[in-house]
Amino acid sequence: MSKLVMGYWDCPFCGAKGNRGDVVNCPSCGRARGDVQFYVKDYQEGENLREEELNQFEQLDEEKAQSFSKNPDWYCSFCNSLNSDNAEFCGNCGSSRADSEANYFEMLKKKKEREAAEAAAQPQPAQPQEKRRSPLAIIAVILIAVVALFAWMNGSKSSGNLKITSLNWVRNINVEENRQYSESGWTLPAGAEQTGSREEIHHYDQVLDHYENVEVPRTRQVYDHDEYTLEDNGNGTFTSVSHPVYRTETYYVTEQRPVYVSVPRYQTKYYYNIWRWTPSRDVTASGDDHNAAWPEVVLADNEREGKRSEVYRFTVENTKKAGETAVYRLAESDWMNLNTGDQIIITSKRTGADPYISDEKGNRIADLVRER
Ligand SMILES: [Zn+2]
Ligand SMILES: [Zn+2]
Repeated sequence: MSKLVMGYWDCPFCGAKGNRGDVVNCPSCGRARGDVQFYVKDYQEGENLREEELNQFEQLDEEKAQSFSKNPDWYCSFCNSLNSDNAEFCGNCGSSRADSEANYFEMLKKKKEREAAEAAAQPQPAQPQEKRRSPLAIIAVILIAVVALFAWMNGSKSSGNLKITSLNWVRNINVEENRQYSESGWTLPAGAEQTGSREEIHHYDQVLDHYENVEVPRTRQVYDHDEYTLEDNGNGTFTSVSHPVYRTETYYVTEQRPVYVSVPRYQTKYYYNIWRWTPSRDVTASGDDHNAAWPEVVLADNEREGKRSEVYRFTVENTKKAGETAVYRLAESDWMNLNTGDQIIITSKRTGADPYISDEKGNRIADLVRER
């Protein structure tokens, strides 16, 4: 049930505050009420009230309520005073309602629009103009920086004044030994001598065993109570409007959940001995001349030759900085062209890419890998 609550108004002429909504002439100055906005004391527009809070406000009894029309007051076009919807003539000057151009709400709306327009027309305090670079300019600066960085990184620095002080070659042959291993597995490899077998757990399968009931919480919104807002009727009264308020309620539903068991799956596992070629020792030859050769390998009955590897390197010394040396590795064909005492130029990129031997113009002659 909505209720009718007493509204109040402030006199625009003499400033008297809190005049009752059922009074049309200001008790202070006697002027008819005109350009006013009704309100309820101690209530903010849109505020939600509990029922007991609503009952704190002055409510109009049945008889009094009957005396108010449901409709807003109308404005007299001649004296601008507010008159009840029930009245056909202005209570202040006697003009006809037929000449009225606006009711309370229409006038209030116009007033608010006028105030908004005035506020907009006010010269705004000058905003300090922030000097902001456009995002495009910032991106351009970053791009230029990145390009410059790459150009610098890609730049090379050459070092002359380098003299080869020694050459070195190393050739290595790994020797493999045939060894017997005891192993097991789900299959028997070719060449293995089986020593036994047995059934063992290979893996587990998750198998549905049964369903169990579980209580699962759910929530729902249930009606709790009503709250009220007070709406301006535009005639000195306000009507309470109820809004339902809900609360969250938890309830439980029974659900069936599958329960699984782990079931072992068996397979035949094989135990066997197997011979495997296994790296066992290195035979190495080295020298500081151009006569690189593979070492002589003497094999036992259970041995064979495995992987071969070879390294060719030289050491350079900076002729301008005594004692500053570096060691480089390179392909055998390039290495064969180098001799102790040669003056060379080594170019390297700032990106850390591998250096190379170059001519005086920086042209690549032989790729290098620096060792130390
Ligand atoms: Zn007054
Ligand atoms: Zn009038």
